Amino acid sequence: MTTAKVVTRFAPSPTGYLHIGGARTALFCFLFAKKMGGEFKLRIEDTDRERSTPEATQAILDGMDWLGLHHDGEIVYQSRNMADHVKAAQSLLDKNAAYRCYCSPEELESLRAKAREDGHAFRSPWRDGNKAEPAGEPFTIRFKVPNGETKIRDHVQGDITWDNKNFDDLVLLRADGTPTYMLAVVVDDHNMDVTHVVRGDDHLINAGRQTQIYQALGWDVPEWAHVPLIHGPDGKKLSKRHGAQAVTDFRDMGYLPAGMRNYLLKLGWSIDDQEIYTDKDAQAAFTLDGINSAPARLDFDKMDHINGEHLKTTDNAELLKSLTTFLVQDMDDEKAQNLLGAMDSLKTRSKNFKDMTSNAAYLLLSRPLEITGKSAKPLRKPEAKIHLSALLPLFEDISDWDSDNIQNVLANYAETNEIGFGKFGQPLRAALTAGNPSPDLSDVLAYLGKDESIGRLQDALQTSYNE
Ligand code: GLU
Repeated sequence: MTTAKVVTRFAPSPTGYLHIGGARTALFCFLFAKKMGGEFKLRIEDTDRERSTPEATQAILDGMDWLGLHHDGEIVYQSRNMADHVKAAQSLLDKNAAYRCYCSPEELESLRAKAREDGHAFRSPWRDGNKAEPAGEPFTIRFKVPNGETKIRDHVQGDITWDNKNFDDLVLLRADGTPTYMLAVVVDDHNMDVTHVVRGDDHLINAGRQTQIYQALGWDVPEWAHVPLIHGPDGKKLSKRHGAQAVTDFRDMGYLPAGMRNYLLKLGWSIDDQEIYTDKDAQAAFTLDGINSAPARLDFDKMDHINGEHLKTTDNAELLKSLTTFLVQDMDDEKAQNLLGAMDSLKTRSKNFKDMTSNAAYLLLSRPLEITGKSAKPLRKPEAKIHLSALLPLFEDISDWDSDNIQNVLANYAETNEIGFGKFGQPLRAALTAGNPSPDLSDVLAYLGKDESIGRLQDALQTSYNE
């Protein structure tokens, strides 16, 4: 027996942005396909002409692109496959697994109400084919739900059995000849050779309905994995109230695509305690059975932690590029060089680009610095400027401007004058950073560079900080 190549697909409806729930589903599909040496396909389910927009399709593509979830082959647009959907409906009619239903909307309403009252699913009076069909009247094509039970084995939800009595005879083709979701998805998945359907668990019951359609068509039923929802930190269904929902919101909050992938992986999948995954590790380890069956909760602290670990292992030049994009500001060469020089320190102290921006703020300031309020307090002390003017020539004399040499000068200064570091360190830091977060003083001076450091100190000496 030859085993079919694994094919997964992500099948969003283009009615909004790429939600993180959808992104996580796409990631799982992607990882599973890659692990199995298979293909990850993308299908845009744009049959709902009123709700689908090109902007939403673009937003989904942008989100996937940012997240690095590159699909294999051409994008499939469901709306272009209508002829295949109609053909399948016809074939179900031919097999007597579907029928033409001529009920008017009013009739349907009362039949449905009656079925509800009697406690069973809707069945149309046209299902048994013993009524003469009216020529020229509009009709829908309905699936004839078979008797018995429908069973599926879901990689996440386990074994599920439905009594078919509970399934309505659903519409496959509407009166205007357009296919419904339930038919289109089966036909497209079959034609795209999809072997594993991984999607949100809001579609679980559809797996039952779709299994019946596959079986009626005589097609192989794919394997299923229905992934639970993502909840907000408060345990409630994720909604606007929780803020970020679109993948691009997370980009704008300053997360790395690699950090986001790792976070989304761990948000709903685990096989052991390992938390940090490179893409390679994730592809090697991923299994559908490792997807958790309980809803996951968004946890920004965990996300920061995971993203911080990815920042540490990302190349400095790449980080500079991403940080510059994040800041949306033109960066002059000197500042870019300073940032690059400080990147080893910045990336170990930051959890995301927002954090990094604040940690890098002292490097990005332009002279003369505005030092006011509390930040200027150390510079108001009577001996502050005495220390700054004494240190200035010592700094000028350093020929090899690096953190160690600077540290030696500072230590000698403290020793010679028999004073603690704080006495001169505080005004020095204030003059160099204007009160922004900063690392060790010798590093601050080293990262700023000799000219900029000396310039900032000279500025401070010429400024009056009196209130
Ligand atoms: N288009 C459906 C949705 O966005 C998904 C269909 C499926 O995955 O089968 O919810």
